[in-house]
Amino acid sequence: MNAIDAHVHLITRAMVEDTAQRFRTLYPFAHGAVEKRAERLFGKDFLGWLKGITLQQQADEWLRAMDANGLERAVFFPISGRLEEIRDFVSFAPDRFAGYAFLDDPAAPGAPERLRRAVNDLRLVGLKLYPSLQLFNCCDERLFPLYAEAQSLRIPITFHFGITHAPVADYRYTNPLDLQLVLNLFPDLNIIVAHFGAGFFREVCLLGFHNKNIHLDTSGTNNWRDYTPERLPLEDIFKRAVEIYSAERIVFGTDTVIRPGAGYRSAIKEEQAGIVHGLNISPGEQALILRGNAQRLFFGKQ
Ligand SMILES: [Zn+2]
Repeated sequence: MNAIDAHVHLITRAMVEDTAQRFRTLYPFAHGAVEKRAERLFGKDFLGWLKGITLQQQADEWLRAMDANGLERAVFFPISGRLEEIRDFVSFAPDRFAGYAFLDDPAAPGAPERLRRAVNDLRLVGLKLYPSLQLFNCCDERLFPLYAEAQSLRIPITFHFGITHAPVADYRYTNPLDLQLVLNLFPDLNIIVAHFGAGFFREVCLLGFHNKNIHLDTSGTNNWRDYTPERLPLEDIFKRAVEIYSAERIVFGTDTVIRPGAGYRSAIKEEQAGIVHGLNISPGEQALILRGNAQRLFFGKQ
């Protein structure tokens, strides 16, 4: 067991239905477009598969995949605020699984209290925020009480900025540079930007100038590189990220969703582990990226 995957997803039927309902409410004139895009991403029978599979079966499948891929732990992100479901899922293997909180309305006055309960009662280890889906600017002051709460709970917040596969998103909220003031105002809040900024790599590099409380996760295919003016090899992204951020603030992940026809993303793990082992850093620093940083951020020790 040599790695912790710090970014994978648990998706349940209820979470998908929550999300569909949310899109219906938000965009009542565009049902067909949202559904078509969701189908393209997950396939036609995804909801059917979810209807027929229990949390226990998903947990068993994950444990098999983790054993086969040398994963000590995995950190699961839900896609809606069904926090009891993620707690129940984690309870099948609490020494291998950890869960994140997701809040349906992170700007609501009750959000900090809900986060506190998620951490203290449900034992969740972080908060996922998705500004382009949840329609808020990360620097909106309505979010500040939530950031203060996360800081005092000593849990990290992972943000998805940049491009996204989500069926509908609003890119007015997707620039990580908007984090700069938040990083300054909450210096003890650990913030993780997923997928190297998913197209905003330049912006996340700039954020490294002042702030030590920002981390980058490596998760996913990183196919955002197919849409940038110059397509950098993934090796160069890792190399530059380590030069700017140091190995202590880069966190490995695959962004896996196990579903019919798509198991654990072993190829991504192999590719990224290969790149990390080829970096001109010590074996100890390589282990930080693949395991140690996640251990420190989520479980409080090296
Ligand atoms: Zn993800």
